[in-house]
Amino acid sequence: MNDEAKTKSQLIEEITQLRHELTHVNLTKEEQSIELLKSEERFTLAMRGASDGLWDWDLNTDNVYYSPRWKSMLGYAEHELDSSLNTWASMVHEDDKDFVLTCVQDYLSNKADAFEVEMRMRHKDGSYLYIRSRAFKVTQDNNEAIRLIGTHVDITKRKKAELFSARNTKVLEMIAKGFPAHQIYDEIALMYEERHAGMFCSMLILEGSKLIHGGAPSLPKAYCDAINGIEIGPNIGSCGTATYTGKRVLVEDIEIDPKWDKIKHLALPHGLRSCWSEPVINSSGKVLGAFGMYYRQPSLPDTEELDDLISAARLVSIILDRENNLRRIKELAYTDELTKLSSRAQLYISLENLIKPTQNPKQPFNLIYLDLDNFKQINDSLGHDAGDTLLQEIAIRLSNFARNHELVARIGGDEFCIIMKDTEDNKDSVITLAKQCLNIIAKPVHLFGRRFIPTCSLGIARYPIDGEDTTSLLKAADTALYSAKDQGKNGYAFYQIELTQQAEYRFKVEHYLREAIEQEQLSLVYQTQVDIRTGKVVGVEALARWFHPILGQIPPSDFIPIAERIGMIKPLTNWVLNTACQQAVNWRLSGIDILRMAVNISPSHFLETDFVSMLDNIIQTTGIECSKLKLEVTESAVQTNQANLSVFKRLKDHGILIAIDDFGTGYSSFASLKHLYVDVLKIDKYFVDDILTDKKAKDLFCSMITMGQKLGYEIIAEGVETQDQFELLKTLGCDTIQGYLFSKPASAEEIAPLLPKLNMS
Ligand code: C2E
Ligand code: CA
Ligand code: CA
Repeated sequence: MNDEAKTKSQLIEEITQLRHELTHVNLTKEEQSIELLKSEERFTLAMRGASDGLWDWDLNTDNVYYSPRWKSMLGYAEHELDSSLNTWASMVHEDDKDFVLTCVQDYLSNKADAFEVEMRMRHKDGSYLYIRSRAFKVTQDNNEAIRLIGTHVDITKRKKAELFSARNTKVLEMIAKGFPAHQIYDEIALMYEERHAGMFCSMLILEGSKLIHGGAPSLPKAYCDAINGIEIGPNIGSCGTATYTGKRVLVEDIEIDPKWDKIKHLALPHGLRSCWSEPVINSSGKVLGAFGMYYRQPSLPDTEELDDLISAARLVSIILDRENNLRRIKELAYTDELTKLSSRAQLYISLENLIKPTQNPKQPFNLIYLDLDNFKQINDSLGHDAGDTLLQEIAIRLSNFARNHELVARIGGDEFCIIMKDTEDNKDSVITLAKQCLNIIAKPVHLFGRRFIPTCSLGIARYPIDGEDTTSLLKAADTALYSAKDQGKNGYAFYQIELTQQAEYRFKVEHYLREAIEQEQLSLVYQTQVDIRTGKVVGVEALARWFHPILGQIPPSDFIPIAERIGMIKPLTNWVLNTACQQAVNWRLSGIDILRMAVNISPSHFLETDFVSMLDNIIQTTGIECSKLKLEVTESAVQTNQANLSVFKRLKDHGILIAIDDFGTGYSSFASLKHLYVDVLKIDKYFVDDILTDKKAKDLFCSMITMGQKLGYEIIAEGVETQDQFELLKTLGCDTIQGYLFSKPASAEEIAPLLPKLNMS
């Protein structure tokens, strides 16, 4: 390009030189004019052959010579356009004119060394060309410029390619930055419109069987409005047909093409005559919409236009795919996958919408926090699948129940929230609703062939009395829920200010307990287990104790559930097991014949994959014999869940003993015991308490002993406090007893004298 330009400029210089010389050689006037004509002829011929246009401006007369090529470049014939300077200037784009004229001035006044500009010039058809112009001064002897001769090169193609590529980059950037889709559609349309003078682009999105306006920045608004919502079909214009058939539709003349018969009355008044449409299809072959290109004259696309039509549709399909993905992500974030109820995030949004700081008067509503009772037991004993099924069932019940209310959300685990608009603004209406809710949840449900009656507890907070913002309202409802649980579950409680103090206390306790477990500040006491026939101590049960300097002595029935709730039960059990096993070994070393060390194990441990290896570790480091270790587990861990069963089996293989604690109070039955590797049944104190006064209790106890022994289990009665209880249990054939009658739980030192000495002989 540069070389080519150089030759041309050399050519001009040569010609100028030639003309200059001609005027100065000593020829006769006639000879001179003949030579001049010849030279003009050569010059014109040279210029006609060149692809560049040439202008030659006589600075004295202000006349400009425009070469034929110069004129044809701009769409004019040789005889058109006069030779005034104004012709040239008037054709330069308004926005470029000042700059170009300044450059000319600078060059003529020697401020600039050269003249070279890029500018837009108007073509006869009204469109603009990009022109690069270079010029050279012709000077007189006194160095004064008398003429300016310049070339014009049409750089429209290159310039448009540059602009197109810049716009293309911008579109991609907008996609990457997640700009709203309609803005990107407009930008895409402008990109192609800039490249193809006179073109109008439009993007239509398919929704169901209708086309919805996506973007068409240059088409008349009235036309876009008329097309918006149009039903697609085999002959509904170009886009309606393309989306219907999934194939490209090129209509050369809207006026006569039958595909436009039904809707040409919408396009023709706006002067639209041709329309080509490419269906927008996603990666899985689904038609998502159509990209359309219009002209005001009948025409069919050339190769470049066709390529652009296809590229535009492809680009748009990326955006539509992205939009669909975003919608899916939103769905995922705002709905709970398991139950399809609203998610926690959605609950927050709904609450924020209801709680508007500017709202006056505040619109009251109720926030109900719902938590299933004993869900953990179901999860622990029947496994997570059963738990999930139950949650789904509860979700169905809740959404039916709260159909006319604001929102039902699952906010995690077995916790749900319901927002209820308070139409009557009194407690009674909420109480009625709460009772209805409790009833609906407490309908029987069948899980893996078992019939359950799920129950729940409800905490109710009212906006704005109980909390004026989302956080405090949720906290109030949660606090109320806690109090409902405290009051014995399967009930509801309203938020009261005193509850906050209790909640703060609870929080403190949780914090202290975490600290105590981490810093091993708990202690163990031991209670003897006695052979009912010989009266000899056959083992002890280790029981955890927590004394806190501020809170005082806290019973395990309080702190064990807290440890479970705050996820600290694992380190706690680990510590208890270690300490108890070590104690057993120490006793043995000091000559005490301790037969069995019983340790309580929370049911959740049976769902942990590393429970058995944790035990192995403790057995190894302490050196306790497996046959001396007895694990007491409550009935809920004994349910026939496959995972639990395999843990039981592995423990059994180790030779570790297993006792079912609190037998007779939970869900288990003799039938479920038949699968289990259990050694001992520990019949709950509840039965022992009534055994003397209640014949039924006695009969029950009796049959439990008989059946249990038939199945090969040792029977322990716990909570034996009186001699009479002891005597009766002995008659009934009970094997072992534990209770205050023999010893209260006591420290290792205190209990040691009660333990049998090793037979040294
Ligand atoms: P549990 O396993 O049923 O323990 C027996 C409870 O009954 C103990 O209460 C014991 O002190 C009490 N008890 C024993 N004999 C009598 C009696 O004759 N009369 C009366 N009134 N009570 C008697 P404690 O120590 O308060 O433990 C309560 C529960 O806390 C235990 O019930 C057990 O479920 C749990 N627990 C205690 N230590 C641990 C532990 O280290 N880990 C786990 N996971 N749970 C523990
Ligand atoms: Ca126990
Ligand atoms: Ca017990």
